[in-house]
Amino acid sequence: MAEIFYTYKHQVYANITNKCNCRCTFCIRGQEEGIGDAQTLWHQKDPSLDEILTAMNTFDFTGYKELVYCGYGEPTCALENLLASAAYARKTYGLSIRVNTNGLGNLYHKKNIVPLLAGTVDAVSISLNAPDAERYNAVSRPFRPDAFQGLLDFATACRGNIPSVKLSIVDVLPPDEIKDCQALADSLGIELRIRHFSS
Ligand code: SF4
Repeated sequence: MAEIFYTYKHQVYANITNKCNCRCTFCIRGQEEGIGDAQTLWHQKDPSLDEILTAMNTFDFTGYKELVYCGYGEPTCALENLLASAAYARKTYGLSIRVNTNGLGNLYHKKNIVPLLAGTVDAVSISLNAPDAERYNAVSRPFRPDAFQGLLDFATACRGNIPSVKLSIVDVLPPDEIKDCQALADSLGIELRIRHFSS
């Protein structure tokens, strides 16, 4: 059975779904079965809320302050289980909650999910991946051609409603694209995090 909770580089992660609305060319799911101490992050069937909470209650969170929703899928595709389990983790284990997301949750659910996240989530890290729609669509291969604007709208809606909001890119992008991503993030008033590719 796939791990729901796993650790990697002194951080604990929640892998609550394998659903995703992108097909990123660089996605690690096509290269490795698991990450960190997880043998596999592929669920035979996405876990129910009961299964997530049972796994949470058997996990030893000693020494961890933050739970990051990030696994082999897009966490907001399992929105109800994300919200309910995050609220439980906060209340029961005193963990702060970060969601690593592709930022397409509003488009996917056809509604503004930010007010739902705002009550439960302390931080969001949104994968920007590219500085414009054309390059974004080429690398992220999202479920809708207008996804890039939806991502930017989601990030803007999070700003001011969720305590920590960051856009992220990886440092394998060409320098001119990194510069353009930085300018875009600056224009939105959102911090840009440039991650090392392997992290
Ligand atoms: S959004 Fe994340 S999980 Fe989905 S394809 Fe892209 S990298 Fe993979």
